[in-house]
Amino acid sequence: MCGIVGYVGPQSALNVVTAGLKRLEYRGYDSAGVAVLADGGLATAKRAGKLVNLEKELAERPLPTGTTGIGHTRWATHGGPTDANAHPHLDNAGRVAVVHNGIIENFAALRAELAGRGHDLTSETDTEVVAHLLAEEFSACADLAEAMRLVCRRLEGAFTLVAVHADEPDVVVGARRNSPLVVGVGRARRSSPPTWPRSSPTPATPSNSARTRWSSCAATR
Ligand code: GLU
Repeated sequence: MCGIVGYVGPQSALNVVTAGLKRLEYRGYDSAGVAVLADGGLATAKRAGKLVNLEKELAERPLPTGTTGIGHTRWATHGGPTDANAHPHLDNAGRVAVVHNGIIENFAALRAELAGRGHDLTSETDTEVVAHLLAEEFSACADLAEAMRLVCRRLEGAFTLVAVHADEPDVVVGARRNSPLVVGVGRARRSSPPTWPRSSPTPATPSNSARTRWSSCAATR
């Protein structure tokens, strides 16, 4: 079983996300990774093995500080437990990052389709197609939540996804399909109580998420 954490708010996203991943360690995992939006771009670190490997990597190559981030502990289903297969997965421009729990059953067809449009997929995972599809949809609508809804309509299987995009720096978007599909948006905000629904990915430290809002809506296939 893997774990997913997403955070947007006033604190260092890396601190909140790594603390969240530690709390999820008991679920079991084979790799871990994080992505943070900072300085107008996306910075990532990921490593096969225990969280301590990721922490070593972060100590050697610190990420820039940002207040929006995602993290993942992986339990491999498609592709071995390697650095390259660890999440987050990015699009070719390195603007969108996604973490994923579950299985994208139709990933092979989507991968072939993306390759046909010139995308270079570098991992063995089913997950990577989502980053590339999100990038394509985002380039048309400039709205990560809408891009997620559109992409999820194309995905088969049961899954949870959390994504960030460097062009929407104060937003974390999550989606969960276990029928029906639920898409939620965490957005930096100045004055609202935390309202994360139980069915959505839980922020690492709910008491610290007072400046985020999480709204959800159903999307039909
Ligand atoms: N199927 C994805 C992979 O193999 C996600 C596995 C998980 O749930 O951790 O990377």
